[in-house]
Amino acid sequence: MSNTPISLSEIAASLAGYDPQALRVELAQAFIRQLLPQPSERETLPLRAALGRVLAADVVSPLQVPAHDNSAMDGYALRASDLNAQGETRLRLAGTSLAGEAAAGAVPAGACQRIMTGALMPAGLDTVVPQEFTRVEDGWVLIPPGLLRAGDNRRLAGEDLALGSVALAAGRRLRPADLGLLASLGLGQVQVWRKTRVAILSTGDELRPVHLQTQGQGLPEGCLYDSNRHTLWAMLERLGMIEVIDLGLVPDQPEALRAAFERGAREADAIISSGGVSVGEADHTKRVMAELGEVLFWKIAMRPGRPMAIGKIRAGAREALLFGLPGNPVAVMVTFYAFVREALLRLSGALPEPLPMLRAASLQPLRKKPGRTEYQRGLLSRTADGAWHVAITGNQGSGILSSMSQAHGLVVLGHEQGDVALGDSVDVLPFEGLI
Ligand code: AMP
Ligand code: MG
Repeated sequence: MSNTPISLSEIAASLAGYDPQALRVELAQAFIRQLLPQPSERETLPLRAALGRVLAADVVSPLQVPAHDNSAMDGYALRASDLNAQGETRLRLAGTSLAGEAAAGAVPAGACQRIMTGALMPAGLDTVVPQEFTRVEDGWVLIPPGLLRAGDNRRLAGEDLALGSVALAAGRRLRPADLGLLASLGLGQVQVWRKTRVAILSTGDELRPVHLQTQGQGLPEGCLYDSNRHTLWAMLERLGMIEVIDLGLVPDQPEALRAAFERGAREADAIISSGGVSVGEADHTKRVMAELGEVLFWKIAMRPGRPMAIGKIRAGAREALLFGLPGNPVAVMVTFYAFVREALLRLSGALPEPLPMLRAASLQPLRKKPGRTEYQRGLLSRTADGAWHVAITGNQGSGILSSMSQAHGLVVLGHEQGDVALGDSVDVLPFEGLI
């Protein structure tokens, strides 16, 4: 990676004035943003392989869309100047234009042309009357007055995309409409940034892996299944431009941790670990991280997910960004959405768009301390008049993954916010979007 705009020590220095126990979420986000290098490797992909990927260069339209003026309706193409403003208009039927045909020859004054949707407008004709408004008698088309204005039901050449215009700008994550747009320009392939490689690992002697044969039994006393690597994998997959490198489950042993982090730095652009960043006895993670690179340990004024490590891990000439997330399963997801998601989008060359937030009336009073950002798990509902309501899913403990699984989204209570009264509006970040 290259082009790092600001170093970690500069960030550490600029943090000196802040309370190390309570770094504001927005401030942590702003610092992370400054740490991110630009992507540098491009690849060219066929259209369908590029869904979800980030455009590495502007796409300039090589043609105009539509290529020619054409009809938006099945009906009759005519000259607006032939229309009779007071009474019925009678136009001689000259011929028929079908979609896919070359433009018809000249249509004489006082005549019209039967035309299908998408067929080219014959030269000189500027307006289309839909067939359901007309009568045809003995080769004459009869049109009632007051129905049409010049240009009605005609699509103009270039009205969708002009030749030479920027159809899609660099930094765009390609969505379904974009694939269609590229196809409409005749472009079968597109230049994107290569996928961002992200290594994930779970730390903790108490963790056991799930595998094909695991049936929820045989877990030794004191142990639990590693869920974080699976939620992390899934959140990364959903971003659409990440190649996940699974470094597995790493015991709380310095040597094993060192080997995993070094491999991450060699193979990936970013490493995401979970666990071991709090002050527990077995938390060697912090020490090993500090040995292998520059790492800042932040306590963020948020709930859940307070402790976090941010920095870089080196292996020889290579280095990777590090996000050392807390171990609790809900804290992993919340810190991912609050910090890691946007950072990875930017690292992948994307220009992140603002997250869609709903304002919903709280169906219950909520206790909230000013001075930290809280993320609670919410169930959304909508009343008949279209207003959103939100209820909090049961237990909000940061280890309670079932309440995260039930939730439709996160209720985000900002830093300054105090208690919420019944019916007060709160921000909700929905998990699902249309595209
Ligand atoms: P730690 O941050 O390592 O102290 O972990 C905090 C809590 O999260 C402990 O109860 C851990 O057992 C739990 N935990 C840590 N990593 C995972 C994981 N990968 N999957 C499920 N629970 C975890
Ligand atoms: Mg641990």
